[in-house]
Amino acid sequence: MKRDCPKCFSALRSEIIRKGIWKVEIDKCESCFGIFLDKGELMTLTGNRPLHHLTTKHLGIDSDSELLCPSCGSLMDDEHAEGVEIDVCLQCNGVWLDKNELDSLREIDSASMKVLSPEKLAELYDADQSVSSSGLFSWLFGR
Ligand SMILES: [Zn+2]
Ligand SMILES: [Zn+2]
Repeated sequence: MKRDCPKCFSALRSEIIRKGIWKVEIDKCESCFGIFLDKGELMTLTGNRPLHHLTTKHLGIDSDSELLCPSCGSLMDDEHAEGVEIDVCLQCNGVWLDKNELDSLREIDSASMKVLSPEKLAELYDADQSVSSSGLFSWLFGR
């Protein structure tokens, strides 16, 4: 499927980023230089597991982003990772990063990253209640 930039609607072009032995194919906008990463690619590129969790299992159910996912067309959600605002697709967990945000994310120290702000916890608690027991809360606090 052809992917367009969710911000400026230019066509995205695939580009290979190398990270060690990994090759990650990302989609990049040549107008605004934003990039789209499929689920898991952010983990490969940053090696930051808390960040990966933020964009997968810690996703809320509310969408407060105005962007539509370039991959599946679903609503995206704003997530805050240590001051970096990223858009995550609620459906496919793809991630949209504006220009330079990947660099900012790579500089985050995963050991000190606080995924769960009080606001995030409240949102997750609501999600856990309405989605029924996915075991999320026992996962969060049972460690
Ligand atoms: Zn763009
Ligand atoms: Zn999507």
